[in-house]
Amino acid sequence: MTVSEVANSSAGTLYVVATPIGNLEDISARALRVLREVALIAAEDTRHSARLMAHFGIGTPLAACHEHNERDQGGRFLDLLRDGKDVALISDAGTPLISDPGFHLVRAARAAGIRVVPVPGACALVAALSAAGLPSDRFIFEGFLPAKNAARRARLEALREESRTLIFYEAPHRVLECLADLGDIFGAQRPALLARELTKTFETLKGLPLGELHAWVAADTNQQRGECVLVVGGWEAPAGDDAVDGEVLRILDLLLGELPVKRAAALAAQITGMRKNLLYQLALERK
Ligand code: SAM
Repeated sequence: MTVSEVANSSAGTLYVVATPIGNLEDISARALRVLREVALIAAEDTRHSARLMAHFGIGTPLAACHEHNERDQGGRFLDLLRDGKDVALISDAGTPLISDPGFHLVRAARAAGIRVVPVPGACALVAALSAAGLPSDRFIFEGFLPAKNAARRARLEALREESRTLIFYEAPHRVLECLADLGDIFGAQRPALLARELTKTFETLKGLPLGELHAWVAADTNQQRGECVLVVGGWEAPAGDDAVDGEVLRILDLLLGELPVKRAAALAAQITGMRKNLLYQLALERK
């Protein structure tokens, strides 16, 4: 326990409360109790959350805590907490801080020695992964890719040899171009899943290789609407003697940045002990 934690033992608790991502039955009994009992609910959008509270008959006052005022208004919530009052933090949907506001408030509260307690529940990335049928022992969450084409492609290039399952959030109007870039850079055969409108009436989970998934979404404009998560299988090294891991590719790419293809492949073969022909083919593909 730090000095500030001892000093603030009479302070209130900041509860980080997950709310539904569509289906209102997904809120937990504990979340409802906490939201009823706290002195104030810090909400991303008070009008949006007022409807949720009305649905559950919760009369706790709401105050705005969104990305534009989180840093300035955070002080107000901290003052209340220091005064011994409990505060709940919620976002519009799902788990706060996950591609949502709250990080600055949680960090400030912890720095002030205030107890921060998660009240877990719905989270779109976990829901999508749990039903994707793609390896779930290790995964990375990339949140939203950059909206601009060049920046998005650069980010995907950097992730091409990522071996863990990848999870992206995407806006509906960009899902098609995102799938096109994913197929282009990761390869059309890479397994993937589109999880759309999770927990809602038109929930759709479609698992296909990236190329086919793009064609399927392109052929049906309904699939280009609503909220969606993309889950993409990680990069797999070719099996056997020709297995190329990320380190080999890193060396090859470094050399390719400085040397002609043939020379780069020959040097990479000397450094890594891999077949020169294989590295030459790889070098041609990557140049
Ligand atoms: N905090 C939320 C969570 O815990 O998942 C995420 C908030 S982020 C601003 C919103 C994005 O989450 C959407 O653009 C979409 O990618 C994803 N998302 C949220 N609800 C979803 C749903 N019901 N179905 C599919 N994706 C959803």
